[in-house]
Amino acid sequence: MLAPGSTIGILGGGQLGRMLALAAARLGFKCHIYAPEPDSPAFDVVRFATCADYTDAVALENFADEVDVVTYEFENVPAETASLLSAHAPVLPDPKVLEITQDRLAEKNFITRLGIATAAYADVTSEADLAAALSRIGLPAVLKTRRFGYDGKGQAMLREASAAAAAFRELGGNPCILEAFVPFEREVSVIAARNADGQIECFDVTENEHRDHILKVSRAPAEIPESLASEARAIARAIAEAFGYVGVMAVEMFVVPAPGGPTLAVNEIAPRVHNSGHWTLDGCAVSQFEQHVRAIAGWPLAPARRHGRATMTNLIGDEVESHGQWLARPGATVHLYGKTAARPGRKMGHVTVIEPEKP
Ligand code: AMP
Repeated sequence: MLAPGSTIGILGGGQLGRMLALAAARLGFKCHIYAPEPDSPAFDVVRFATCADYTDAVALENFADEVDVVTYEFENVPAETASLLSAHAPVLPDPKVLEITQDRLAEKNFITRLGIATAAYADVTSEADLAAALSRIGLPAVLKTRRFGYDGKGQAMLREASAAAAAFRELGGNPCILEAFVPFEREVSVIAARNADGQIECFDVTENEHRDHILKVSRAPAEIPESLASEARAIARAIAEAFGYVGVMAVEMFVVPAPGGPTLAVNEIAPRVHNSGHWTLDGCAVSQFEQHVRAIAGWPLAPARRHGRATMTNLIGDEVESHGQWLARPGATVHLYGKTAARPGRKMGHVTVIEPEKP
């Protein structure tokens, strides 16, 4: 168990690292952010900072020697970076989780082996594979690069077989998976925390609305039957247990209409705190960020209790200029990430509104 006053190292200097560091500070920890971008928003809120590349072995070793535990705010931490750091300090969640979640094929295979449903999928490394996958999976379908996809980048919707080969080439001919298009009725996520003692806490299931492939609004609780919500939490729990996970993770799922009532299919696992859990900062006694800090510090987790109905709205690009209106709105809590350039699609802040439970 880390004592207050210990130093937590965080790879990545975006808003997730910033909010992790703020939560850690409240528990008496110091944080050291390691990020390559000089204007990283997390640098503004921590005692120690290293601005260096993820391949800079000397900087990585110095960083790891100065901290008591290393964690990360993004899943594309290079494998060599994680293994180099592991030789100097504990890295949590364990880097083996990264290997699986960085690769959509490995991730889907892992989920499937647990008996959990996903969209039908196939491995595609060549145009011949793609043709075979299309005849097995059918159309419409989604072609996704196995690695480095986010916010809809690295994926193409296929409606006609004739467009498939060009889409594959446009994705750089990189290894892909082909997924059946899921005619979902809504998208939900579960934010789960697990500590090394095996304690697991899941926040209430969140419903997520995307715009241009970027999360726009999250609502908790999701408007789904309690039986489905409890199944969603059981799925997240099973994944956390199978990984022997330590920290917070998000499991994104589709709610799929079916004759006997809606069912769930897992889309993606994020081995980190997640945008769809930001509402927990204002909607719960203990947020996803604090749960993550508690987990990696070997502390007990808090029961994931919600104060009311939460709505979280992302301020994307120049929407951040409207924050003044939100400041005046009763019950709204405004979070700004301290980013200077409001580029289109960039997450600049978010607003949470907590309301009483529906009667
Ligand atoms: P991803 O990068 O896998 O999280 O996908 C981004 C978004 O694309 C998801 O949140 C869905 O809205 C949509 N999407 C991804 N995969 C599928 C699929 N197999 N069927 C339908 N929609 C999908």
